[in-house]
Amino acid sequence: MNTAPFKLEADFASTLPTMAAPWQGEEAPNPELVILNDDLAYSLGLDPTWLRTPEGVQFLLGLNPEPLTKAVAQAYSGHQFGQFVASLGDGRALLLGEARSADGVLHDIHLKGSGRTQFSRGADGRAVLGPVLREYIISEAMHALGVPTTRSLAVISTGRKIQRGSVAPGAVLVRVATSLIRVGSFQYSNISGGIELSQHLANYTITRHFPSLVAELSAPTPATYVSLFKAILQRQADTVGKWTRLGFVHGALNTDNTLISGETVDYGPCAFMERYRGDAKFSSIDTYGRYKFENQPMILGWNMARLVETLLPLLGATPDEGMTAAQEALGEFDDLCEQAIRKEFATALGLDESDTGTVEQFRELLYLHNPDITTLLRALTDNTAPPSGFEAFVHDWKTQDPDIEAMRAVNPLFIPRNHLVEAALADAVEGNLEKFHELLAAVTNPFDPTAGPDELRLPSAKGFEEDYMTFCGT
Ligand code: AMP
Ligand code: MG
Repeated sequence: MNTAPFKLEADFASTLPTMAAPWQGEEAPNPELVILNDDLAYSLGLDPTWLRTPEGVQFLLGLNPEPLTKAVAQAYSGHQFGQFVASLGDGRALLLGEARSADGVLHDIHLKGSGRTQFSRGADGRAVLGPVLREYIISEAMHALGVPTTRSLAVISTGRKIQRGSVAPGAVLVRVATSLIRVGSFQYSNISGGIELSQHLANYTITRHFPSLVAELSAPTPATYVSLFKAILQRQADTVGKWTRLGFVHGALNTDNTLISGETVDYGPCAFMERYRGDAKFSSIDTYGRYKFENQPMILGWNMARLVETLLPLLGATPDEGMTAAQEALGEFDDLCEQAIRKEFATALGLDESDTGTVEQFRELLYLHNPDITTLLRALTDNTAPPSGFEAFVHDWKTQDPDIEAMRAVNPLFIPRNHLVEAALADAVEGNLEKFHELLAAVTNPFDPTAGPDELRLPSAKGFEEDYMTFCGT
């Protein structure tokens, strides 16, 4: 037996046992490591050489992980497209445990596609290779773009054939988050254990994500939890600011897919737009456009309202006080998002945050002319011809003396464009990972002109995006 040179912690499982069902992964008939993120593994103290051994791969599948960790399926609830589902939970996922990065921060090591659990509700608990690789490449691209996100550590193909309309190869994604505590986790704690469990989860959230509040935990007051909620609101606003500047549509912002940490999670029906517009949506099941691009700040606000409902008794000495504090904090969320979005665009334009006039003019033009924002911002950065409709703006903007060096560090050349991702995945599921690796190298070094060939910078051919649909079927 080749033993691992590390051991995971079981921090969540031991702190919140009523929200964590001990479980194991499903045996894979012919497991093969498709990709391993060496840098990420190193940064978490998980020796990649060992992870490549047969024992390492078994570990990554959540099989027989004792004594390395105590794997659990996490319980959570969620509003899916506005409908409350009390018992969702990890239906095809497992939390293997937590690993510490060099700066001492715990990171969840989490599987997706690891087999049925007590939360599977009749489904097979599995995931297929194409969507799993999609999550891998888009999450790693988001990280490189500076967006708070879960990351991807590995993909293992299981050797199993899975029925998803047609037959597809089965796979497990190993992902990493500073935690997978969701809005839906609080909804679950609230209905299953009342305010006591929600307070316990809130305190745990503080220890995992908000070190500046930890000192207050010895004698927490309503102000402690109001500060916690405000800090969570700020995280959401910062993240949606980045999505908005990059033209990213998440596509499934259910409360179970909204992390307290503000990290973007669950790259199912997501996409980067190539025509900047408010009504962009790509999800095949989002019939009414609930999660279309321009709704994202509002939907996150809605999710934050669902979160704060679970904390009301902690927010004030009386129910009235709690309600007032919640409403005051929530009432600021629109402004927080607006500020975050403006700040993102100001940075992208190389301007000072106070230069709201130019930023607002730019945003109006985006909705008027629907450009590909990535090439537009790079045209400004590289002083090449802007798309039509932006000439007068560019003339004015240049008089503001923009910081071009700063722009180079935030405006990507390479993003995971839909047509490129689809082409790479089509080859990958046939066993040819050449395009996948080429695209991965480019999008994980998005500001470096030498990271990939020029054609990977170009938007898709006309008509591609109009028909582009993504499916939740990870
Ligand atoms: P998602 O759409 O991936 O965010 O999943 C929503 C919920 O459905 C979560 O509770 C998942 O664990 C569960 N789920 C999704 N797909 C499967 C599957 N193939 N088997 C079991 N549970 C699933
Ligand atoms: Mg989910």
